[in-house]
Amino acid sequence: MSENPISISNINDFIFCPVSIFFHSIDEEEKMITRCSDQINGTESHKNSDLATYSSKKSMLQGVSVYCEEYNLLGKIDTFDVETGILTERKKKITTIYDGYVFQVYAQYFALSEMGYNVNEIRLYSMEDNKVYPIENPYENIIMFEKFKKVLDDINTFSFNGFVQTNILKCERCIYELLCSFSLLKGDVKSVYRT
Ligand code: SF4
Repeated sequence: MSENPISISNINDFIFCPVSIFFHSIDEEEKMITRCSDQINGTESHKNSDLATYSSKKSMLQGVSVYCEEYNLLGKIDTFDVETGILTERKKKITTIYDGYVFQVYAQYFALSEMGYNVNEIRLYSMEDNKVYPIENPYENIIMFEKFKKVLDDINTFSFNGFVQTNILKCERCIYELLCSFSLLKGDVKSVYRT
């Protein structure tokens, strides 16, 4: 296991492209890069919980920092209702339930469980169209649980040496493309992957 905790918000980025978590960490520190597209989906929807304004309900934890020792994960929960045990991760708009979204709530689930909370239900919430997507907990979906652990292993062992991006569509949609030397949109690489 790497010494540094894995940021919960990096899990989805890593699945999109491992290189993007490097830029994400700079972005977090500098707040200089204009966000757009899929990579903004979580960030904007978390504004309210980070400011603890989503709900005034006393039993609602919002934007609270958590740490999961078992998987060495650090981050924030979006919203968790202590009374009902419902953990919700809000997104601006959900069109596809990506594995990264599910793994983000898994990470929050494990952190809250370690802290002694009973998490009875986990779900994703699409804010723009007001849709709720129930998610099985990791023990109810062993295949996804194994995939979750594999992604964490991959993050812990990732090396930039030898990394090659093979999906030009990702680079085309990537908010970090202009900064990225691994981009397939640069130079001769572009024509190779276009054919
Ligand atoms: S530009 Fe391409 S290789 Fe670079 S971070 Fe984005 S998706 Fe990854």
